[in-house]
Amino acid sequence: ATPTALMVGTGRGAQLGILIKGPEVLENTRRVDTVVLDKTGTVTTGRMTLLAVHTAEGVTEDEALRLAGALEHASEHPIAAAVAAAAAEKLGPLPAVEGFENLPGLGVRGVVEGRAVIAGRATLLTDDGPLPAPLAEAGRAAEAAGRTAVTVGWDGAARAVLEVADAVKPTSAEAIAELRALGLRPVLLTGDNRAVAEAVAAEVGIPAEDVYAEVLPEDKVAAVEILQAEGRVVAMVGDGVNDAAALAQADLGLAMGTGTDAAIEASDLTLVRGDLRTAADAIRLSRRTLGTIK
Ligand code: ADP
Ligand code: MG
Repeated sequence: ATPTALMVGTGRGAQLGILIKGPEVLENTRRVDTVVLDKTGTVTTGRMTLLAVHTAEGVTEDEALRLAGALEHASEHPIAAAVAAAAAEKLGPLPAVEGFENLPGLGVRGVVEGRAVIAGRATLLTDDGPLPAPLAEAGRAAEAAGRTAVTVGWDGAARAVLEVADAVKPTSAEAIAELRALGLRPVLLTGDNRAVAEAVAAEVGIPAEDVYAEVLPEDKVAAVEILQAEGRVVAMVGDGVNDAAALAQADLGLAMGTGTDAAIEASDLTLVRGDLRTAADAIRLSRRTLGTIK
């Protein structure tokens, strides 16, 4: 394409709500055949709500909520925001947390009221033995329903499971159908549990074989590299700090404008409104600009 065509394409992108880092970016879009989609905050709203608290014997809901809420208050994860907000709403001001530690892709830990509290994936708590059966069952049921189960423990044992739910954005299924119609293969990439990931994927029309779940933040880059090693040309759409390295590794990185600065800085394009349909608009725009309309 001529420099003028690229300039015009860039201007048209801005009108559509697509910020393009440089005119050459449109050229990179041409050969893309695979679109890797982050789940939380990209396909889903990322605004989670706490739906239920399941406790082990001898533990009250308020106690579990107070300790987990205090701990999650120190975290910026969407799951943490839901837990902390629900706890504050029900219980008022929450206790302080000392020695807070974020374990990316896994959960959080810290000391609350003199107890070492952990919240996150069950694997953080199962080193010392399996979860009590009722908690394990509550967690399995939550995940089968597409919800995230946050296991909470203190003093060396798992004591509660919190059920947190996120909603698929109303435009995601349509966006994914549009990407497919453009000849691209959408795949879902997430740190979340496989059952949750597959439930979300089914809702937006992605088959289970194209779901990469339980991927740690540092392994998201490797997932993109593996697809590239298979000869695929990869676009990645993401919003989180966790996604930044993978967005940079992708042949084309697209950040949700509603996401973190880290994701936006690592990307070639920003979808200003955080609407996944603009990812399809971007591909269409570049093909038109480059004269390769399908
Ligand atoms: P995603 O890739 O879907 O954006 P993350 O990589 O951020 O998800 O997190 C993966 C999983 O780690 C979450 O689904 C959750 O089980 C657990 N997790 C991460 N951070 C927290 C937290 N602050 N509290 C509880 N669980 C967490
Ligand atoms: Mg995300």
